[in-house]
Amino acid sequence: MYKPTLDYAQQLDKEDNLAHLRAQFHIPKDAKGNDWLYFTGNSLGLQPKQTQQYIQQELDDWAKYGVEGHFEARNPWMPYHEFLTNSMAKIVGAKPLEVVVMNTLTTNLHLLMVSFYQPTKTKYKIVIESDAFPSDRYAVQSQLKFHGFDTEEGLIEWKPREGEELLRIEDLEKIVDEQGDEIALLLIGGVNYYTGQYLDIKRIAEIGHAKNCIVGIDLAHGAGNISPELHDSGVDFAAWCTYKYLNSGPGSLAGLFVHEKHARNKELPRFAGWWNHNKETRFNMRQPFDVMPGAEGWQLSNPPILSMAAIRASLDMFEEVGMEALRAKSEKLTGYFEYLINQIDTDRIKIITPSNPKERGCQLSIQVKNADKSLHKKLTENNIITDWREPDVIRCAPVPMYNSFEDVYRMVEILKTLL
Ligand SMILES: *Cc1c(COP(=O)(O)O)cnc(C)c1O
Repeated sequence: MYKPTLDYAQQLDKEDNLAHLRAQFHIPKDAKGNDWLYFTGNSLGLQPKQTQQYIQQELDDWAKYGVEGHFEARNPWMPYHEFLTNSMAKIVGAKPLEVVVMNTLTTNLHLLMVSFYQPTKTKYKIVIESDAFPSDRYAVQSQLKFHGFDTEEGLIEWKPREGEELLRIEDLEKIVDEQGDEIALLLIGGVNYYTGQYLDIKRIAEIGHAKNCIVGIDLAHGAGNISPELHDSGVDFAAWCTYKYLNSGPGSLAGLFVHEKHARNKELPRFAGWWNHNKETRFNMRQPFDVMPGAEGWQLSNPPILSMAAIRASLDMFEEVGMEALRAKSEKLTGYFEYLINQIDTDRIKIITPSNPKERGCQLSIQVKNADKSLHKKLTENNIITDWREPDVIRCAPVPMYNSFEDVYRMVEILKTLL
């Protein structure tokens, strides 16, 4: 199979039919002009070179047309979000009706909970993973509080078992079996940000729905990384950001998914603004509120076009390459990375991410016994950009769009010397 040599890594790069994509990104460099080994595409994806030109075009059209750009720009701003919908829907395996790009992730989670977290006196609890991303935890706790419930008592944590790091689906099944009558909502990270574990979203939906719980998925670490097949999974809603694997720039807008089965339900409680009002009559300005069907019916405001231009630049690349080819490279690249780490002759290292490629995306979370943040600092001094999580985990994401087999080879060589 794999070999732990530089020659072999370079050979894999030669055989990689996506290798040319790297040159289409700005790769950060050190003071001497050497490329960083960038493994934090799970935090902020790198900038596609074409992003500048996409944004420049909107700046030019704004200069040229002013307000008329809403209709006259080469990409008219009025329907601009629609230009993103098809590509984004493909990336997450949804129908175009089910997807919209708007707001930011945590904002979208709240707007979705306005509609889909409808607690009663007896059925009000929310299930999250015990190591959910802090923003998600704060969001659900504030929703509990907003509805008058206790933020501790109302929150159920799906935890790894004693001595384990990964979640077991049977344990979620047990929670929902035993307490389902009190549970209103499951809000689960599809790919856990800390362990990199990719959960069976379809199974989670079945478990929740069997007890009449709403199921929502946070795909911040999934979108552009794995293929979640949101429509077929049957989950009620999902949201994700575009600045991680979707390379759309710091703080860029987020995605939102509402399953088709809810698309035409006008009875759902929701917040309103002029942008979820019927497009046809929006500018009559006097009509009573008439909500649009599908995911667009959750928008509130006219969106920031410059951010959407950056998203468009990136989605055009995803459209060209396709998730299938990216996934195929990703499994091989992360597989090689895992292989190299396992070759290191030490008992200090443990990969906590699942070893089954179907249960992970590109990220590996590497636990280093007796290490502290100085290890991360030394890696950085060696041009290796990774993410450190206390107490002892390095999160490292080789991204198939721009990372090479040589990148992971060099990274592991340096990690070896530092240990
Ligand atoms: C990155 C991330 C966020 C960040 O939320 P923003 O609203 O975009 O700041 C939230 N949740 C998860 C699971 C994340 O990975």
